[in-house]
Amino acid sequence: MTDNHTFGREDAEALVPRLWAWWKTAARNLPWRGTGASAWGVLVSEVMSQQTPMSRVVPYWTDWMHRWPTPSSCASASKAQILTAWGNLGYPSRALRLRACAQAIVERFGGSVPQDYRELVSLPGVGQYTASAVLSFAFGKRVAVVDTNIRRVVSRAFDGAESIGGVTTQADLARAVELLPRENTASVVWNQTLMEIGATVCTSSHPRCGACPLAGICQWKRTDYPGMGVARTRSVQKWKGTNRQVRGIVLKALRRQVKDGVARPYLAPNDLEALWPDSDQLHACVVALDDDGLVAIGRDGGVTFPD
Ligand code: SF4
Repeated sequence: MTDNHTFGREDAEALVPRLWAWWKTAARNLPWRGTGASAWGVLVSEVMSQQTPMSRVVPYWTDWMHRWPTPSSCASASKAQILTAWGNLGYPSRALRLRACAQAIVERFGGSVPQDYRELVSLPGVGQYTASAVLSFAFGKRVAVVDTNIRRVVSRAFDGAESIGGVTTQADLARAVELLPRENTASVVWNQTLMEIGATVCTSSHPRCGACPLAGICQWKRTDYPGMGVARTRSVQKWKGTNRQVRGIVLKALRRQVKDGVARPYLAPNDLEALWPDSDQLHACVVALDDDGLVAIGRDGGVTFPD
């Protein structure tokens, strides 16, 4: 490849056999991959991994799919069951949106995950990325999937520039569409391998070029990694002492009661006060949880899971 050559779709298509060979030997063996996974399983995995690393998602996904293998089984679960199964995955509003999504699938699509982009993005908690991922990974359709990992690999390997991070732009989407192989199966291989390379090999701060199937053609490597480290990475959010920690502690106390077999989990005001030393912060967090529909505050100030 010459200095002036712009990497295009034909180059992408020529790379697919090499990417597929790499995928078969190096990709992580995640339970929602492969022919045995249902579209619902893929959708659940995508929602769970929106803000949580996939490796952490595996035990929660496995438990979830055991309990609720179909949208209709999830749709009829209680909020307490859903929020308990969500465990420590974080951002628990996602759990309630997934249940609302299951209910919408049952009510509007007869219990089957739709295969149409517009129908998918009409579901609660399903945005552009998740809809595209489900169409590609569950249904094998030809659609560009753009997440942080794919953007980083495309930017580095094919365009020779460090990815600056931030939100996905129209330019990112247009570039992904421009490169996407024409054949359905090849497009899926393209999406899934670039995403896996970005997640496991070409990471933001430690690209492992020696293990990368793109090392031979990578423009960024060839030009000695210009702009390395300029990526707009999110500052690492501290956890200790934050409202997120306090909210997590309250939900965890309710979940513990469900696991102990308590039919109607309930934290009396005294139980709540024992959870956190700063009562102003505690009460603000309980009110915020109530506003988000994650708990219900009783007349006496105690809390339970919502109905
Ligand atoms: S060769 Fe290195 S920099 Fe290029 S895509 Fe692979 S891991 Fe990233």
